[in-house]
Amino acid sequence: MIKAGKLRLLPTKEQELLFFSFCNISRFAYNESLSFKISMYNDGIFVGVQECIDHIKDLKYSEEYSWIKLAPEAVTKQAIRDMNRSFTLFFKRGNKGFPKYKKKSKTRPSFYQRTDRFYQIDENHVRITGIKQPVKCIKTQLPNKIVNTRVIYDGKYWFLTYSYYYEAEIVELTDEVLGVDLGVRNMATCSDGRIFKNINKEPRIIKLEKRKKLIQRKIARKYKCNSRKSNNIIKLENDLRTINRKIFNIRNNYLHCMTKELVRNKPKAIVIEDLSVCDMAKTKLLNRYIYDANFSRIRKYLEYKTNEYGIKLVIADRYYPSTKKCSCCGNIIEKMSLDNRIYECKKCGMTMDRDLNASINLKNYYC
Ligand SMILES: [Zn+2]
Repeated sequence: MIKAGKLRLLPTKEQELLFFSFCNISRFAYNESLSFKISMYNDGIFVGVQECIDHIKDLKYSEEYSWIKLAPEAVTKQAIRDMNRSFTLFFKRGNKGFPKYKKKSKTRPSFYQRTDRFYQIDENHVRITGIKQPVKCIKTQLPNKIVNTRVIYDGKYWFLTYSYYYEAEIVELTDEVLGVDLGVRNMATCSDGRIFKNINKEPRIIKLEKRKKLIQRKIARKYKCNSRKSNNIIKLENDLRTINRKIFNIRNNYLHCMTKELVRNKPKAIVIEDLSVCDMAKTKLLNRYIYDANFSRIRKYLEYKTNEYGIKLVIADRYYPSTKKCSCCGNIIEKMSLDNRIYECKKCGMTMDRDLNASINLKNYYC
C-alpha cells in the first residue's frame, strides 16, 4: 500500500530564494512546453515528452533563457512530464479538461526532487539537489523507501512531500455496517447516533471568513485607485494568503479527524450517498464550492482510510431514496422538503431526526 507523507523544511533565506526560483523555472517549463506542444499540434505535428525536453534544452542554451540552468535538470524534465500527463488524461478521460497554463497567482509553488538523489544526512538535515548546503528540517526519521519526492510551499512553510510503501496491518473487522449521511447542518450523521458538526459554522471559521472578506474588500478598493501594486497591497495580499491557509488547515484537519473517527470502530462496511444527489447538492448555498470541495475530500479520505483496514466503502445508488424512506417500515413519502428536520412516517407513526433516518437507511442499503 502507498501512503503519503510530508516533512517540514527549514531553509535559510538564501536557500528559500533558490527554492522559489526552482518553482518558477518548473512552472515556466510546464507552460512553455505546453504552448510548444499546442503550436506544433496546430501544425499537425504530435510531439512527445522527448521533443519537449529538447525544446527546453534549446532555450536553456540561448542567452535569453540561460537562467533555466539554475535549476537541476530533473526539475524541468518532471514539469514537462507532468504537462504531458495532464494531456494524456485529457485525451483518455476528457472530463479532466484541456490542460491549462499555470498562473503564478493560482499555482502552489512546487518543484520535483529526484528521489535517488535525495537523502537524509542526519535527523535534522536533508540534501536537496541544486542546493549546496544541507537543508535543515524538523527532526524526523523518514521511512526506508520513499518515492515521488517534491518540495512545496504552502504560503508560509516549505515541505518535502513523498510517498512510501508500507505493509498494511491485518485488522479484525466487526460485523457492523455504518451508514453515514453527509449534510450541511451537520457535516455527518452516523447510523450509530454519532454526529459530526459542521466545521464551517464554528465561530473561529466564521471569524476568519469575516476577516478574509474585509481584506478582500480592502484590496479591491486599493486596486481601484492604484493601477500598480503598492507595498500596502502586497502586505494585504500576504495577510490574505495567511488567512486562506489557516482556514484550509482547520477544515482539512477536521475532515481528517472525522474520517479517522468513522473508521476507528472498524465496521465491515461504510455506506455513503452518491454526493451528486445528496441533500447538499440540492441546496442553493452561497458558498456551495466550499461544500463541494469538502465532500469530495471526505470521500477521498474515506476511500484510502477504509482501504487501509480492508473496510468496504459502499456508495449508495443515486436513485436510492435515503431521505424519503422510513427506516422503520420502509414506507416512502413523496416529498420531503429540505427545511423539514424531522421525519414523520404516516404509516407506522415513527418520528426521527431526518439525518439519522437517512443514515439508518444507508446502513440498511448494504445490510
Ligand atoms: Zn414507517
